[in-house]
Amino acid sequence: MAAMAPVLRFAPSPTGLIHIGNARTALLNALVARREGGTFVLRFDDTDAERSRTEYADQTEADLAWLGIAPDVVVRQSDRMELYADAAERLKASGRLYPCYETAEELERRRRIQLSRGQPPIYDRAALALGEADRRQLEEAGRRPHWRFRLEPRVVAWNDHVRGPCHVDCASLSDPVLVREDGSYLYTLPSVVDDIALAVTDVVRGEDHVTNTGVQIQLFEALGAPAPAFGHHNLLTTVSGEGLSKRSGALSLRQLAEDGYEPLAIAALAVLVGSSEAVRPVASLAELGSLVDLAHISRAPAKFDESELDALNARFVHAMPYAVARPRLEDLRIGGGEDFWNAVRANLGRFGDALRWWGVVEGPVAPRIDDPALVATALRLLPPEPWDATTWKLWTDAVRAETGLKGRALFLPLRLALTGLDHGPELAALLPLIGPERVRERLGGEVV
Ligand code: GLU
Repeated sequence: MAAMAPVLRFAPSPTGLIHIGNARTALLNALVARREGGTFVLRFDDTDAERSRTEYADQTEADLAWLGIAPDVVVRQSDRMELYADAAERLKASGRLYPCYETAEELERRRRIQLSRGQPPIYDRAALALGEADRRQLEEAGRRPHWRFRLEPRVVAWNDHVRGPCHVDCASLSDPVLVREDGSYLYTLPSVVDDIALAVTDVVRGEDHVTNTGVQIQLFEALGAPAPAFGHHNLLTTVSGEGLSKRSGALSLRQLAEDGYEPLAIAALAVLVGSSEAVRPVASLAELGSLVDLAHISRAPAKFDESELDALNARFVHAMPYAVARPRLEDLRIGGGEDFWNAVRANLGRFGDALRWWGVVEGPVAPRIDDPALVATALRLLPPEPWDATTWKLWTDAVRAETGLKGRALFLPLRLALTGLDHGPELAALLPLIGPERVRERLGGEVV
């Protein structure tokens, strides 16, 4: 990492809902920036006017805020077009950006010929041979140029934060198109121009960009700027190994938020899966940030397993102190205070499940009376008030002494009568919360 305060960025194109794989990239950048006292930039790569949507950009900002990594700076490439035009002019002037007139069909035909001859399908640079007169003729015939970056035919090497020494042989790549026929920019140039303008020190992104990095390092040089450091992390896939897509909306942060997952659980999984650290609950994003070690991210794809998220989320909720839970319980209009929280939290997979158990306390509950004789005896033996955490034991000891029943044969009929369910939080804790009045009524078979 750079010695000065680093600047890192997350650069999504706002063409869909960001998913947990995008969150991995965003978090790695944001947490490193915070940990090192640097800056975290959110940059919307929205030069593709047709596919970019303001709603997706807005949702992405909301998603990052929900995760707890609101950016320090937000920029939109669509606001910065003159910077790209300026850079393109400089590259044209230095002969690194050259006009090409081939149609997509022509390029495809040449590609097929190359392949049939066993040659690599690299752009043949025919356009470099065009003279002034040829170009004028083509333009008079109605052709508009697209513009390619002339790569120097050499190996570009860098020391990757994640992958160690890396290289790309630019001699084996086609000169990339930077500007389309209609004058719009592909991703490559604006990204480099912005990384220079925003003084980005470290580009941490998915390993699908490794080849781009070779090209972009040449672009930084051609624009007279030092290249930042790079780190390419493994991508998150589904359990069956498929990539996640922004377009499908699958595993989108918005959906996960709606499904009631804890943002810190999502963050912990997104960062720790496929790293050298075990997936586990953390107390804060700062703690999670202290566990990020780019050099030890696995090279294999990181598999996202929804059941792992469920398990992790449950561990977060189980460990949640009442002080943290309290405002959220109040929002859900759940009463019962700390006693209720301590009674139910071990039974929650997601925080919102607390509502269900509050329903069991408050009712209405349809009691299930499977053993009327036992329940009648139990009703008669209810201990005197006030009730507390010791009441359950006093009560069941008395019922056991009279009926000779114990274990499941004793407890299950009581649970069914009191809650209508065959499972749930400890009855010793629930009993005082349900309270003497409702307990009597439920034991009497009333729906309350
Ligand atoms: N918009 C690019 C993407 O989402 C950004 C890649 C980068 O970080 O440079 O893949």
